[in-house]
Formats: sequence, structure tokens, C-alpha cells
Amino acid sequence: MNQRNEPSFRESVDLMFNRAVALMDLAPGLEEKIRVCNATYTVRFGVRLRGQIQTFTGYRSVHSEHMEPVKGGIRYAPSVHQDEVEALAALMTYKCALVEAPFGGSKGGLRIDPRQYDEHELEQITRRFAYELAKRDLIHPSQNVPAPDMGTGEREMAWIADQYARMNTTDINARACVTGKPLNAGGIAGRVEATGRGVQYALREFFRDERDIEKAGMSGSLDGKQVIVQGLGNVGYHAAKFLAEEDGCVITGIIERDGALFNPAGLDVEAVHNWIRKHGGVTGFPDAAHSAEGAAVLEEECDILIPAALEGVINLSNADRIKAPLIIEAANGPITAGADDILRAKGTVIIPDMYANAGGVTVSYFEWVKNLSHIRFGRMQRRQEEARHQLVVDELERLDRYLGDAWSMSPDFKKKYLRGADELELVRSGLDDTMRIAYQSMRTVWHEREDVHDLRTAAYLVSIDKVAASYRAKGL
Ligand code: NAD
Repeated sequence: MNQRNEPSFRESVDLMFNRAVALMDLAPGLEEKIRVCNATYTVRFGVRLRGQIQTFTGYRSVHSEHMEPVKGGIRYAPSVHQDEVEALAALMTYKCALVEAPFGGSKGGLRIDPRQYDEHELEQITRRFAYELAKRDLIHPSQNVPAPDMGTGEREMAWIADQYARMNTTDINARACVTGKPLNAGGIAGRVEATGRGVQYALREFFRDERDIEKAGMSGSLDGKQVIVQGLGNVGYHAAKFLAEEDGCVITGIIERDGALFNPAGLDVEAVHNWIRKHGGVTGFPDAAHSAEGAAVLEEECDILIPAALEGVINLSNADRIKAPLIIEAANGPITAGADDILRAKGTVIIPDMYANAGGVTVSYFEWVKNLSHIRFGRMQRRQEEARHQLVVDELERLDRYLGDAWSMSPDFKKKYLRGADELELVRSGLDDTMRIAYQSMRTVWHEREDVHDLRTAAYLVSIDKVAASYRAKGL
């Protein structure tokens, strides 16, 4: 507990878990087995940098091994600590179960501010951390497969994959030891955008059912909805960009480390993103009001609030002032258990993290399968699919000639129909399907069980049920 009597991140996850299991009929002891974190490994290692040895602290936590490998990102942030890594590992267990990615839950973290180091130094640190984890099988294609998280990305994953391959020179599946790699190092098309894309697909599915829209006291579609995003990093940037460009949402607020931008007429996400890249923050961006007190913008009027930065940002100190009727947790754990109680009581609808940001692990799953099968998705089928479509088009063209003016093919039908799906299209299709099905499983519980009043409890019920079934199948 902290000063405000706020539970820690891990306690918050446990409280939410407890709320759900109270509604289940689990065998005695199984509830405890599922909740606890199996193991957390702490490593302290030294790297010689700038003429002296610097010591770093890292963690890899394994929450549940009901399925292996276990999966979860590696985070680089100065605030990383054991409680946080364990909470994130637990969320990974529930998340993978919910979206039917065949993994147990894990998470890693390195206590470091990556902005304080240059690329070469970060490579040395990452390789050493990867070495420490790999030699204990905490990075391994069939046991533990990391991915990017806050402060890490494709570059770090490529270093980790290379480090593992150097240590395991005869492992033909070495590339499957980590996901989120760049395409040229065994990555998959669509992984970088995946988590933000998943947030978009989640919202689209929410707006497909009138009952859900009504529960949030809203109406209509995504078109024209006012959105505030916190954190314009990997997840927040892609979610905001796709929602604005493809669904007609108006991004009215963007909150970053150095304050927030606000413009009721809508912010140009691409322009803000470029500005941050160039200037390191949002300060000074033209065409918007800047507020140094960024977190206060979470409390502004909007239709959809997307916390996509870090945990605990909506807590006991601000929950009652949050006005958004719909919050989608793109980050992990942005709403504390106490704030969740306050928001639920107000009728705010929360699309929970374990579902909302599952796009990342879903596409990581596709990448892992691609690495193990050693072939790009679509490589065998694409031209064959085009050839079959060509047959249909040839027939339609014959009909076209025969019917004369009475009928003709629409101008771009032929171009669109003839093209076989490439890897990116297949990945997006698989992600869309996964996000729809997982949402529908939560929706059914939410609407059909009288004792379930929110999507988070529904999500826990669906996923714990699956984890429990795995344990039972193992004879536990
Ligand atoms: P990132 O490092 O790419 O982006 C984080 C962004 O948040 C950065 O732009 C940073 O400047 C900003 N930020 C940091 N502190 C802030 C503060 N106090 N106020 C406002 N903004 C702040 O990280 P990411 O990969 O986008 O991850 C964000 C969240 O999404 C994390 O909770 C992570 O666990 C979760 N997540 C990420 C993935 C993924 O695939 N990357 C998958 C699932 C969940």
C-alpha cells in the first residue's frame, strides 16, 4: 500500500483476480495456484561503460507455466521493480488465455533509463542481460520467449535474438527465442503496429453492439468520437493514428512526459509524433494548447480515453474526476483497483488491459509460429489464390462481353479481387479475428451473467476458466 492506501500494481491485479474467482467454483487450492507467481529471477550484472563498471538490476518473472513457452515483454525503465514485473507476468497469463495464444505468462524488466545511454552502450547492456537470462533458459524458443515493452523495440529484440543464436549455434529454431524482431532478423510484418492495431479492432468490436454502446451511455459509431491518448509511444501512436485515419475519430488530447497537447478541433497525430522524435517531447508543438500538468488532461471531457503509457495513472486521487464514459486500457494496469471501483460505480465502461493490448502478444504468437515453420505466411498460397481468382475474372469478362451495356464489372473490382493476400494482410486478418472472438467471449459473460457487471470481471472469468482447464488436464 502507498500513502493514499492505494494497493501496489501486483496487489491491484490480485484484487481484480479475487473479485472474479469469488464468482467461480474452483477446486480448493487451484485458485491460489493460479494466482501466485511461480518464480522471479533477479540478476545484477556489471558492464564496463565510460571507463568504469556499472551495475544493472534486471528481472524475469514466470507467473504460470500451465502452457510453455511462457511469454511476455522486457521493459526498460528506471522504475522497474519486482512487484511490477510480477504483476505484468500475471497479466500475461490471463491475456494469453483470453486470446488463445498457447503460452504461459512471463515478464521481464531492466532498471535503466535507456535515454541516458547511446546505442552502442545499450547494445552492450542488452546483450549482457540476454546472456544472463539465456544461460538459465529464461530466454529459449520452447521455454521463455520475450518481446518488446516500454523502452524496448525491434532493435533490442534483434540484439537478444543474435545473442541467443551465438550461445546456441546449432539450435535451428534460435530465431523463435524472442518476438518483435525486425523483418530482416526473422520478424513478421505488422508486429510493430500490432498492439495499437489491436486497440483499434477492440473499439470497432465494441461499437458493433448497441447494448455495449448504451452501457457506456454513448450512441453512434467511432466516427467523430473525441479521443484523448496518454503516451504517444509504440502503442499510443499506432492506436491514435489508425483511429484518426481509418475510423474518423478526433484526437483532441495527447499527454506525454513533458505535458499535454489539447485541441478540440483535433490534433495531427503524425505531426505530433514527428515533433516528439525531433524535440524529445510535445513542448513547443504549434497548433495546440500546451499544458505542463499533463495528467490533468486525463480529466478533460472526451468520448474515449486511451491510457497508453504506464500503470497507476488513474488512481484514488483522480478517478472521480475522470469524465470519459469509455476507457480502453492500452497500457498495462493504468487503472488501480481502487480507481476501478470508483469508475464502475459511476458507470464508466472499461475495456480491460488483458484484452485491450493483447494485439501485441497475438502477433508475437504468429511471429513465433513463422520462426518455427521457417516460412513466411502466404508464400505457398498467394499466387495459387491469384490464379483461382483469375479464373473467375475471366468468366466474368466473358459475361461482360456477352451482356454488352446491360452489365459491367465495377472499375477496381478486378484489381482488388485478383490480388492474393500478403503476410501483412494475413497478420491483420488473424489479429482482427482474434480480437473479435476474445471480445465476444467477454461480451457473452457480461450480458448473460447477472452477477457480472463489467468487462474486466468478464475477462478474468473467461481466462481463469481456460487456465484452470489446462491445470486440470495436467492432473492438478
Ligand atoms: P513506449 O516506450 O513505446 O511508449 C511509452 C510512451 O509513454 C512514450 O512515448 C513515453 O514518453 C510516454 N510516457 C512515459 N511516461 C509518461 C508519463 N508519465 N505521462 C505521459 N506519457 C508518458 O512503450 P509501449 O511499448 O508503447 O508501451 C506502453 C504501454 O503498453 C505499457 O504499459 C506496456 O506494458 C503496454 N504494452 C505494450 C505492448 C507492445 O507491444 N509494445 C504490448 C502490450 C502492452
